[in-house]
Amino acid sequence: MKPRHIFLPVFVIIATIFMGSCHDMKRKTDLIIYNARIFTNDHIDTTVDCIAIKKGIIYLVGKDAEIRSRYWAKEYINAKKSVVYPGFIDAHSHFTGYAKFLRYANLTNAASFEEVIDILVDFRKTHPDGWLVGRGWDQNKWDVKQFPDNKKLNELFPTTPVVITRVDGHALLANNAAIKAAGINLNDESSQIHKINGVSTGIFLETIADKIRESIPEPSEAEMKILLNTAANLCYAAGLTAVTDAGINKNEVLRLNEMQQNGKLAMHIDVWLNPNEENINYFVKQDIKLSNRALRVKAIKLYADGALGSRGACLKMPYSDASGNVGIQVTSSAELEKICKIAYTYGYQVNTHAIGDSAVGLVLRTYSKFLKPGNDRRWRVEHAQVVAPNDISLFGKFNIIPSIQTTHATSDMPWAKLRLGSKREKYAYAYQDLLKQNSWLANGTDFPIERIDPLFTFYSAVSRKDHYGNPPDGYQMENALTRLQALKSMTCWAAKSAFNEGEVGEIIKGKIASFTILDKDILTIPEKEILDAKVLYTIIDGKIVYKVK
Ligand SMILES: [Zn+2]
Repeated sequence: MKPRHIFLPVFVIIATIFMGSCHDMKRKTDLIIYNARIFTNDHIDTTVDCIAIKKGIIYLVGKDAEIRSRYWAKEYINAKKSVVYPGFIDAHSHFTGYAKFLRYANLTNAASFEEVIDILVDFRKTHPDGWLVGRGWDQNKWDVKQFPDNKKLNELFPTTPVVITRVDGHALLANNAAIKAAGINLNDESSQIHKINGVSTGIFLETIADKIRESIPEPSEAEMKILLNTAANLCYAAGLTAVTDAGINKNEVLRLNEMQQNGKLAMHIDVWLNPNEENINYFVKQDIKLSNRALRVKAIKLYADGALGSRGACLKMPYSDASGNVGIQVTSSAELEKICKIAYTYGYQVNTHAIGDSAVGLVLRTYSKFLKPGNDRRWRVEHAQVVAPNDISLFGKFNIIPSIQTTHATSDMPWAKLRLGSKREKYAYAYQDLLKQNSWLANGTDFPIERIDPLFTFYSAVSRKDHYGNPPDGYQMENALTRLQALKSMTCWAAKSAFNEGEVGEIIKGKIASFTILDKDILTIPEKEILDAKVLYTIIDGKIVYKVK
């Protein structure tokens, strides 16, 4: 027996030397990101530079030397002093709509209606079949800032239905073939049919525009899945780890769920249901529990009005540049209240589009019939672009969450004064005032209306300037966000606006390992460098979904 005791220490020493060089002495994780600057809570914490991830969850955040001496990983990222933020979230976007838009002619950069026509003619050469569809035109960017008409489209495309949607999605131009195919009655007296001297121009607004769009043939199921994947990849490259699908239907929700469950879609998605009967009966009343950590189906989307650019936003007093016109309330007050009641009863969140001060006031008052002070329902007002000074305190009083898109302020600033006049403009895009109401708010892009890039959102929030640095002093700077507020609005506050704050939005142990890694610290670099910051990696559930080339 004795010799064994002599040999044992020798064996232990040899084994230690041998095993110390392999992984067995260390504990296993899936991914270690080291040599990083890490945003924890509210600053770049220089005392931590390493994150270990296991099963998609943040396992450790700490010092490189300590973590790597005790843990190994299947995969490592040497961050080379780049900055790791909680994964960027878009708190208001139309993910499925964006995917569908990817198959349409992109008119966003057209500087005139003639250019729109040129793009459509070119697009037709490579897309010769079926309807000709385009999106993103904006007459406010043209020399002639009037709505276009469909004469040229009728001449060029007498038998092909052509539909081109305005940048805000609330107005479109259709040619006669499309109007006929959609079964629109031009004798209708609706204000949603734009007419000059009693004759339709081909411009349609709001629900009639929706009806025309619904006539556009849908892509096949296989094509739709490819489009969703392309959309997701574009979002990852922009640094997004979670998005919103702000108003979709049953088959679209089930498709997203199926793709996620089959490992075909890594993107986390907060789904808002359109308030149609099928959605209400299937999801809300039957309490179908689809929600998991990648998908949330617990909100209903409502629309109170249209958009400011197409004068559909509902104002208390007429537009300053269209006498007598106060915009369009797109859902009746009774219907808004009916859906709110269903949502309240079944524990659903309500997120209502309201842009003009009249619509915002209406939504706040409708919500206040259900919500009690101190509630945590997080019912939201989407956009909240023009808020009457007398109404703003209702956000705080009833814990109603403003959901803003900071790029809207900088996109609209060239013409907002025309629509609103200078007195009302002061109360528009008042993000700092809105933030004060509950001490937090949600921020997004409303893509495809704006670009998907969260860095644009961040830049416009803090600078209130366009990408050329204008106006040099910023637009209504009293309502700019600080850098920290802007970052929170697209990370932890955006998470909170979808009841996800327990899972994402911060880099701490136990949360989901979703990160956006940038080459620069956007909290401290000079303002003009923010737009040059590069996304190096996007990580969702501990998996690299994007890596810069
Ligand atoms: Zn939207």
